[in-house]
Amino acid sequence: MIPLRLKVDTDAIDPYVVRLRSFEGMPQPPDNCGFLDAALETADGETALFAGATGNLRVFGVDPSELDGDIVFVVPSRKTAHRLIRASSPHNTLLITERCDQLCVMCSQPPKKQHVNMFPFFETAVLLAPENSTIGLSGGEPTLFKSELFDFLRETMARRHDIDFHILTNAQHFGRADLAELRDLDLSRILWGVPVYSSAGAIHDQIVGKQGAFEQVRKNLSVLCEAGARIELRTVLMKPNAPGLLDLAKFVAVTLPFTDTWAIMQLENIGYGRQNWGSLFFDSSLGFDLVGKALDFAVSRGINTKLYNFPLCTVPADYRVFAPSTISDWKRAYVADCADCDLRTECGGFFEWHPKAHGYGRFGVA
Ligand code: SF4
Repeated sequence: MIPLRLKVDTDAIDPYVVRLRSFEGMPQPPDNCGFLDAALETADGETALFAGATGNLRVFGVDPSELDGDIVFVVPSRKTAHRLIRASSPHNTLLITERCDQLCVMCSQPPKKQHVNMFPFFETAVLLAPENSTIGLSGGEPTLFKSELFDFLRETMARRHDIDFHILTNAQHFGRADLAELRDLDLSRILWGVPVYSSAGAIHDQIVGKQGAFEQVRKNLSVLCEAGARIELRTVLMKPNAPGLLDLAKFVAVTLPFTDTWAIMQLENIGYGRQNWGSLFFDSSLGFDLVGKALDFAVSRGINTKLYNFPLCTVPADYRVFAPSTISDWKRAYVADCADCDLRTECGGFFEWHPKAHGYGRFGVA
């Protein structure tokens, strides 16, 4: 797995954001080496020393050429640096908060009570990001800090016209009073990922652990639509909601036709998803009929429907076109049986933490 947290040493006292530049093969740093850049001075295989206006930063155990252009958040007291934005990756996500007002049965990152305001650091990071990046914002629930989030979006989008955002939100906290703020943003550059698990309110509410959540998300999706927001509906496929997937497809087609994408997603084996794996994991390789019917219906109604996190060989050949590789590079892995697979370059494989006995009854390409 690609390390996102680095062991470092620095003279600084307070946390800061800096962009690392290796400038290998160049006699001296180029003119665009800015105040928030630290350039590689020396490297000996174990340690790399970066220096800049923010001071010296010694990074341990990573080839410095792999860090070129990365934007890191340095916490001197912990001797760590978090790679907020990796220059070589299209999968960069900033964790806005670990707080959440829902408690989903399969939550990959169970919520915590404490919150640290990272917006000022994230703003710096986004301003330093590579050109034409799409940056993910997630949580917890980012809109628990809605006014700070709007300020952050307004500021960064005004200063970086080439940057787009993908924001994961449970959409519980919007209202018509937000229309003006939403419309003030260039909504063509933001994709809002909103989970909807079932067209049956009781099932959705049970999955997210919050009574009334379905009614609220339904109402607030209308608000987002009225504002002109782009919506990616996200449905994690599990035993409790798999039988109702076709009904959900009909609901999406009739009630939410403005949806940009409907993503049907396989379950992640981490957090509560791991704790509740036995009661949640739906083997879509054997039960694909339910998925296929829902997908056929949604596609026939013009809904752009995708299968996220489905190993390609577990999907019937005719449907593989709907299953892009979606697992981020830093957490993607393959099992031993994948070694000689012809589909490997197109297949997103598994989450790094998926059990090696993968649990799919039909697996591998015949
Ligand atoms: S065998 Fe592995 S690489 Fe091939 S399609 Fe299946 S999961 Fe993907």
